[in-house]
Amino acid sequence: MNIELINTGSELLLGRVLNTHAQWLCRQLADLGHTVARQVTVDDSGPAIEAAVHEALGRADLIITTGGLGPTSDDRTRDLIAALLGRPLRMDTAALDHVVQFFASRQRPVPESTKVQSLVPEGAEVLMNAHGTAPGLIIETAPGQFRAGKNCLVMLPGPPRELRPMFTNQVVPVLEKRFPLETAFVCRTLKTTGLGESRLEEIIVGPLQHLTVAGLELGYCARTGEVDLRFVARGGGAAELVAGAERIVRGLVPENIYGVDDDQLEAVIVQLLAEKKQTLALAESCTGGQIANRLTNVPGASAVLWGGLVTYSNEAKVKLLGMPAATLAQHGAVSEETARAMAEGARKVSGADHALAVTGIAGPSGGSEAKPVGTVFIARATPDQTVVLRCYNRYDRETFKHVTSQQALELLRRGLLDNEKPAS
Ligand code: ATP
Repeated sequence: MNIELINTGSELLLGRVLNTHAQWLCRQLADLGHTVARQVTVDDSGPAIEAAVHEALGRADLIITTGGLGPTSDDRTRDLIAALLGRPLRMDTAALDHVVQFFASRQRPVPESTKVQSLVPEGAEVLMNAHGTAPGLIIETAPGQFRAGKNCLVMLPGPPRELRPMFTNQVVPVLEKRFPLETAFVCRTLKTTGLGESRLEEIIVGPLQHLTVAGLELGYCARTGEVDLRFVARGGGAAELVAGAERIVRGLVPENIYGVDDDQLEAVIVQLLAEKKQTLALAESCTGGQIANRLTNVPGASAVLWGGLVTYSNEAKVKLLGMPAATLAQHGAVSEETARAMAEGARKVSGADHALAVTGIAGPSGGSEAKPVGTVFIARATPDQTVVLRCYNRYDRETFKHVTSQQALELLRRGLLDNEKPAS
């Protein structure tokens, strides 16, 4: 199947907004077993949208457009496509009711201009917008109008919080019905951390060779502090190929796999702590609250996170964590001893089951020969023991914070799994 994606919006071409729809929709379609053949971004002007859609109509089975369904003068996608397809716009009473209801539930008057969104091209399937007013639209063309076969045109609103649920809940079922896969498709991602992508490949490529020869596709996606390992297989035996690959990799790098598919390390940790009914306290210096931020993004974090202290200065470390000033004076703020004392202090003041502490030199200045920029000490304290990990994270400050938070969370995860071997 030939799929083309047309993202509209001058703000995307002016670099004001990152085109996340391209990545997100390609990913969703890939997970369904479809590959997007072409993606184009065009400005809001009529001719650019018209030309892109007209061109795609000559080639594609499925065309997805994003943006330009709103009520303002730069929202032209619906009108242009209706004209291009020769479909007059008609008032859809259900869409109009939706707009009226949307404003009524917010106790706001209905701006006259928003009613334009209830005008839909004749014959279009209307997708009600659960998070906004502009409905999505699906239109099928007649065979021979633009190409030998039919085209299916899906128009989605621009705001991601409107587009994503609409695609998942309303478009995917339609696609599954109209474009059933001809062959089986299985895709599975193992989420790994603690190994670079080249090292991971070195370890697994040989043992997986018989499966790749049999048709298994391997994909690596390096992210900050982690690597996604993707298995894809098609046709008869696809599920067995992927399951076999997963079994082998889990045997080779068991400690490095923290989850599958869309799992996130912070969510895995919240779940592990919740299962054990245990709590966590944080003492963060160089990560400035990044670990707490990641954990509090997870629903249910309040059941396991006691709290976090951003103890950036020496004074805060002593006053809030009760750590000995002498340790700081003798070993310095970035040292194994300080990390240990921070974690033990955080555990003591909180009474939590676990405490994580991080202290490091983000740079660009502040390093020394013994402790160069990028040096980080991460400690995890429990009532029984404290372990300290030393890392070198030579990155810009933002990446440094993310990588360090990743290593700290991973140190905790391994501790929670009763595996004391620290992340490398
Ligand atoms: P609205 O009713 O908000 O006008 P619309 O369907 O007309 O909806 P646009 O006006 O094109 O959509 O875009 C609305 C907002 O959605 C933009 O300001 C932008 O922040 C965001 N947006 C649009 N396209 C993209 C994209 N490709 N990636 C990420 N965000 C986008």
